[in-house]
Amino acid sequence: MPKPPPYAVPLREISDDPIHRTFTVPPALVSEWLKGLPMRDALGAPDEDPNAGTGKAELDIYAEGAHVFTTGTFKGDLTVACSRCVEPVKLVIDERLMVTFLPKAEMPLDEEAPEAEEGAEVPAEDLDVFPYEGEFIDLEPLFREQFVLSVPYAPLCREDCKGLCPQCGIDRNSGTCSCEKPVDPRLAGLKGLKLPSA
Ligand SMILES: [Zn+2]
Ligand SMILES: [Zn+2]
Repeated sequence: MPKPPPYAVPLREISDDPIHRTFTVPPALVSEWLKGLPMRDALGAPDEDPNAGTGKAELDIYAEGAHVFTTGTFKGDLTVACSRCVEPVKLVIDERLMVTFLPKAEMPLDEEAPEAEEGAEVPAEDLDVFPYEGEFIDLEPLFREQFVLSVPYAPLCREDCKGLCPQCGIDRNSGTCSCEKPVDPRLAGLKGLKLPSA
Protein backbone atom coordinates (compact mmCIF):
# COMPACT_ATOMS: atom_id res chain seq x y z
CA MET A 1 0.00 0.00 0.00
CA PRO A 2 1.31 3.49 -0.77
CA LYS A 3 2.50 5.52 2.19
CA PRO A 4 -0.16 7.98 3.39
CA PRO A 5 0.71 11.67 2.93
CA PRO A 6 2.25 13.53 5.93
CA TYR A 7 -0.97 15.27 6.94
CA ALA A 8 -3.25 12.26 6.62
CA VAL A 9 -5.54 11.24 9.46
CA PRO A 10 -6.76 7.63 9.22
CA LEU A 11 -10.55 7.32 9.25
CA ARG A 12 -10.33 4.52 11.83
CA GLU A 13 -9.06 7.11 14.35
CA ILE A 14 -12.03 9.42 13.73
CA SER A 15 -15.41 8.94 15.40
CA ASP A 16 -18.25 11.10 16.71
CA ASP A 17 -16.02 11.75 19.72
CA PRO A 18 -13.69 14.61 18.67
CA ILE A 19 -9.94 13.98 18.69
CA HIS A 20 -7.54 16.87 19.10
CA ARG A 21 -4.55 17.01 16.79
CA THR A 22 -1.69 19.46 16.35
CA PHE A 23 0.16 19.76 13.05
CA THR A 24 3.14 21.88 12.14
CA VAL A 25 4.23 22.97 8.69
CA PRO A 26 8.02 23.39 8.23
CA PRO A 27 9.60 26.15 6.09
CA ALA A 28 10.69 23.63 3.43
CA LEU A 29 7.06 22.78 2.69
CA VAL A 30 5.97 26.42 2.76
CA SER A 31 8.58 27.30 0.15
CA GLU A 32 7.53 24.35 -1.97
CA TRP A 33 3.85 25.33 -1.81
CA LEU A 34 4.48 28.97 -2.67
CA LYS A 35 6.88 28.20 -5.50
CA GLY A 36 5.71 29.75 -8.76
CA LEU A 37 3.89 32.68 -7.17
CA PRO A 38 5.47 35.83 -8.66
CA MET A 39 5.75 37.65 -5.32
CA ARG A 40 7.49 34.64 -3.85
CA ASP A 41 9.84 33.89 -6.75
CA ALA A 42 10.84 37.58 -6.84
CA LEU A 43 12.74 37.05 -3.58
CA GLY A 44 15.16 34.71 -5.33
CA ALA A 45 15.13 32.54 -2.21
CA PRO A 46 16.67 29.06 -2.35
CA ASP A 47 14.51 25.93 -2.49
CA GLU A 48 13.71 24.82 1.05
CA ASP A 49 14.17 28.44 2.16
CA PRO A 50 14.48 28.32 5.97
CA ASN A 51 12.78 31.75 6.13
CA ALA A 52 9.82 30.88 3.91
CA GLY A 53 7.47 30.64 6.89
CA THR A 54 5.87 28.13 9.20
CA GLY A 55 2.41 27.05 10.25
CA LYS A 56 0.68 25.38 13.15
CA ALA A 57 -2.80 23.89 13.14
CA GLU A 58 -4.76 22.98 16.27
CA LEU A 59 -7.72 20.92 15.16
CA ASP A 60 -10.62 18.98 16.57
CA ILE A 61 -11.66 16.21 14.21
CA TYR A 62 -14.87 14.19 14.38
CA ALA A 63 -17.26 12.40 12.08
CA GLU A 64 -20.95 12.00 11.53
CA GLY A 65 -21.23 8.93 9.38
CA ALA A 66 -18.98 9.43 6.38
CA HIS A 67 -18.81 13.21 6.88
CA VAL A 68 -15.66 14.36 8.66
CA PHE A 69 -15.56 17.74 10.35
CA THR A 70 -12.46 19.64 11.38
CA THR A 71 -12.57 22.85 13.40
CA GLY A 72 -9.81 24.83 15.01
CA THR A 73 -7.17 27.40 14.27
CA PHE A 74 -4.35 27.85 11.83
CA LYS A 75 -1.55 30.23 12.75
CA GLY A 76 1.62 30.92 10.90
CA ASP A 77 3.61 33.29 8.81
CA LEU A 78 5.13 33.49 5.36
CA THR A 79 7.56 35.75 3.58
CA VAL A 80 6.97 37.24 0.14
CA ALA A 81 8.50 40.14 -1.78
CA CYS A 82 7.21 43.69 -1.57
CA SER A 83 5.66 44.43 -4.96
CA ARG A 84 7.42 47.83 -5.11
CA CYS A 85 10.88 47.42 -3.56
CA VAL A 86 11.21 43.58 -3.60
CA GLU A 87 12.33 43.53 0.06
CA PRO A 88 10.96 40.60 2.10
CA VAL A 89 7.54 41.15 3.68
CA LYS A 90 6.40 38.91 6.50
CA LEU A 91 2.69 38.12 6.43
CA VAL A 92 0.85 36.65 9.40
CA ILE A 93 -1.81 33.95 9.20
CA ASP A 94 -4.36 33.72 11.98
CA GLU A 95 -7.39 31.84 10.72
CA ARG A 96 -10.27 29.93 12.22
CA LEU A 97 -10.88 26.76 10.29
CA MET A 98 -14.18 25.01 9.82
CA VAL A 99 -13.88 22.41 7.13
CA THR A 100 -15.90 19.42 6.01
CA PHE A 101 -14.43 16.41 4.28
CA LEU A 102 -16.86 14.48 2.11
CA PRO A 103 -16.35 11.18 0.29
CA LYS A 104 -15.39 12.11 -3.26
CA ALA A 105 -18.63 10.63 -4.64
CA GLU A 106 -20.65 12.97 -2.43
CA MET A 107 -18.91 16.16 -3.46
CA PRO A 108 -21.36 18.80 -4.65
CA LEU A 109 -20.99 19.67 -8.29
CA ASP A 110 -19.75 23.09 -9.34
CA GLU A 111 -20.60 25.92 -6.99
CA GLU A 112 -23.53 24.12 -5.41
CA ALA A 113 -23.25 24.28 -1.64
CA PRO A 114 -23.51 21.01 0.26
CA GLU A 115 -26.89 20.29 1.77
CA ALA A 116 -27.09 21.81 5.23
CA GLU A 117 -27.21 19.18 7.93
CA GLU A 118 -30.15 19.43 10.23
CA GLY A 119 -29.15 21.39 13.30
CA ALA A 120 -25.90 22.58 11.72
CA GLU A 121 -24.59 25.64 13.51
CA VAL A 122 -23.25 27.42 10.48
CA PRO A 123 -24.79 28.03 7.09
CA ALA A 124 -23.48 25.57 4.52
CA GLU A 125 -21.99 28.34 2.38
CA ASP A 126 -19.57 29.24 5.19
CA LEU A 127 -18.07 25.79 5.13
CA ASP A 128 -15.02 24.82 3.18
CA VAL A 129 -15.48 21.43 1.63
CA PHE A 130 -12.73 19.04 0.61
CA PRO A 131 -13.08 15.56 -0.88
CA TYR A 132 -11.49 12.44 0.50
CA GLU A 133 -10.91 9.02 -0.91
CA GLY A 134 -9.81 5.78 0.68
CA GLU A 135 -8.88 5.21 4.30
CA PHE A 136 -7.86 8.69 5.43
CA ILE A 137 -8.55 12.40 5.11
CA ASP A 138 -5.65 14.49 3.87
CA LEU A 139 -5.23 17.90 5.48
CA GLU A 140 -2.44 19.03 3.16
CA PRO A 141 -4.67 20.85 0.62
CA LEU A 142 -6.28 22.70 3.51
CA PHE A 143 -2.93 23.79 4.96
CA ARG A 144 -1.55 24.70 1.56
CA GLU A 145 -4.60 26.89 0.93
CA GLN A 146 -3.90 28.87 4.12
CA PHE A 147 -0.56 29.98 2.71
CA VAL A 148 -1.51 30.48 -0.92
CA LEU A 149 -4.63 32.52 -0.11
CA SER A 150 -2.63 34.72 2.27
CA VAL A 151 -0.54 36.22 -0.52
CA PRO A 152 -2.14 39.47 -1.67
CA TYR A 153 -2.08 40.51 -5.31
CA ALA A 154 0.44 43.29 -4.60
CA PRO A 155 2.05 42.89 -1.16
CA LEU A 156 3.68 46.00 0.32
CA CYS A 157 6.40 46.22 2.99
CA ARG A 158 4.60 49.34 4.17
CA GLU A 159 1.71 51.40 2.93
CA ASP A 160 3.92 54.21 1.60
CA CYS A 161 6.79 52.13 0.20
CA LYS A 162 8.62 54.37 -2.27
CA GLY A 163 9.78 51.45 -4.40
CA LEU A 164 12.83 51.28 -6.63
CA CYS A 165 14.07 54.01 -8.96
CA PRO A 166 13.09 52.79 -12.44
CA GLN A 167 16.35 54.15 -13.85
CA CYS A 168 19.14 53.15 -11.45
CA GLY A 169 17.27 50.61 -9.31
CA ILE A 170 18.16 52.20 -5.96
CA ASP A 171 15.75 51.44 -3.11
CA ARG A 172 14.16 54.83 -2.52
CA ASN A 173 13.21 53.83 1.03
CA SER A 174 16.85 53.72 2.09
CA GLY A 175 18.64 55.89 -0.43
CA THR A 176 18.30 58.73 -2.87
CA CYS A 177 19.62 59.15 -6.35
CA SER A 178 19.92 62.06 -8.72
CA CYS A 179 18.06 60.47 -11.59
CA GLU A 180 15.85 62.99 -13.36
CA LYS A 181 12.23 62.09 -13.51
CA PRO A 182 11.68 61.05 -17.11
CA VAL A 183 9.54 63.53 -18.98
CA ASP A 184 6.41 62.03 -20.43
CA PRO A 185 6.86 62.58 -24.18
CA ARG A 186 3.20 63.57 -24.45
CA LEU A 187 3.87 66.42 -22.01
CA ALA A 188 7.28 67.42 -23.39
CA GLY A 189 5.68 69.95 -25.70
CA LEU A 190 4.03 71.65 -22.75
CA LYS A 191 7.35 72.15 -20.91
CA GLY A 192 7.93 75.80 -20.27
CA LEU A 193 4.33 76.60 -20.93
CA LYS A 194 2.94 78.79 -18.17
CA LEU A 195 -0.30 77.45 -16.84
CA PRO A 196 -2.82 80.08 -15.80
CA SER A 197 -2.89 80.21 -12.04
CA ALA A 198 -6.14 79.09 -10.55
ZN1 LIG B 1 8.59 47.96 -0.26
ZN1 LIG C 1 17.85 56.60 -9.69
